[in-house]
Amino acid sequence: MKTPFVTKSQLDEIVKTYPTPFHLYDERGIRENARRVNGAFSWNPGFREYFAVKATPNPSILKILREEGCGADCSSLTELMMARRCGFRGQEIMFSSNNTLAEEYRLADQLGAVINLDDLTHVEFLEESIGYIPETIFCRYNPGGVFTLGAGKDGVQVMDNPGDAKYGMTRPQIAEAFQRLKARGARTFGIHAFLASNTISNEYYPELAGILFRLAAELREETGCDIRYINLSGGIGVPYRPEEEPNDIALIGQGVRRKFEEILVPAGMGDVQLCSELGRFMLAPYGCLVTKVLHFKHIYKEYVGVDACAADLMRPAVYGSYHHITVAGKEEAPHDHMADVTGSLCENCDKFAVDRMLPETERGDLLVIHDTGAHGHAMGYNYNGKLRSAELLLREDGSVKLIRRAETPEDYFATVVW
Ligand SMILES: *Cc1c(COP(=O)(O)O)cnc(C)c1O
Repeated sequence: MKTPFVTKSQLDEIVKTYPTPFHLYDERGIRENARRVNGAFSWNPGFREYFAVKATPNPSILKILREEGCGADCSSLTELMMARRCGFRGQEIMFSSNNTLAEEYRLADQLGAVINLDDLTHVEFLEESIGYIPETIFCRYNPGGVFTLGAGKDGVQVMDNPGDAKYGMTRPQIAEAFQRLKARGARTFGIHAFLASNTISNEYYPELAGILFRLAAELREETGCDIRYINLSGGIGVPYRPEEEPNDIALIGQGVRRKFEEILVPAGMGDVQLCSELGRFMLAPYGCLVTKVLHFKHIYKEYVGVDACAADLMRPAVYGSYHHITVAGKEEAPHDHMADVTGSLCENCDKFAVDRMLPETERGDLLVIHDTGAHGHAMGYNYNGKLRSAELLLREDGSVKLIRRAETPEDYFATVVW
């Protein structure tokens, strides 16, 4: 069973001030989890988690993570601007972009961010854009093919398709990039790769680490480059379904440490600093979308209509993703009513759940849609003239703070040239 981090009585209070729908974030959960992540890698001096800003680009959230020692991983101009406005400075910012604009490289350089190149051609493009090659530079690796991990706990298998992904450099290209960068003045190097998304496996990070550690040792041999950093990127997942078992970040940290001691230490590279760019794992479980039941419809199927829609949370509509739903205050009631839970877009994919067993619901009931803290509000859009919802923070002392207001019709019309 999945239990929301907020109770029905707390929600009844919150909706007196803030109308539904809204995304609510749990400060305590965010902080405790960030501490677990940092603890899991504390054996590696210099480890830093750069939170993937795209997952939850809200300044209040970014500042909490910064207080917990995290950096910011950006991939666009406005994400860089947001990181700057939240107080991230210099190497607290990682710039992992692709298909990059010159102005993005210029701002990343002005901020002193660590730049992570996605392609071999960007060696020249970066130099053209900012006038030189920074002393410290990262390159993104793509091994191609299919990435698989054998069935782990609960028989869950991890499979993803780097060979189909637009990111990163091939093995010969990354060696070539390091050589070109070194010839143009780079002194210390980092390697980055992102091979699988939302992995529910404690083996993903250790497996990826093994690949990158071996690559680092080889590249140092081949190119003589001083490789000091390895960026394990994102991809550690969360259990969206109640029957899935959460990842154990402490075990993941130990698994990476074993690979480090097996591969890097004997290669004389025990001074390598690790970093991560987690998004989902840092935030998804610590956010929920709260929405109110508006209508019931009985045709060929049963529908529960709510006041949120895919514009507030598009993962179910575009990926068919499962998000657990709790009817606040009815956790213990028999879940004997099957329905689709729908928004109001003129798109049939606008369903938060399909054939979901729920307790008997009434108009006005509050639904908590779980695990929307990452890639939730962030992916919102304005299709059908829908306005994006507010974001609220449940603080550690139990009070609630508005951290982004809901959009208004004025926002919707603001960009129109009449
Ligand atoms: C999206 C992204 C991440 C975060 O991925 P999660 O699956 O949310 O952990 C990290 N790095 C880069 C470059 C990304 O594009």
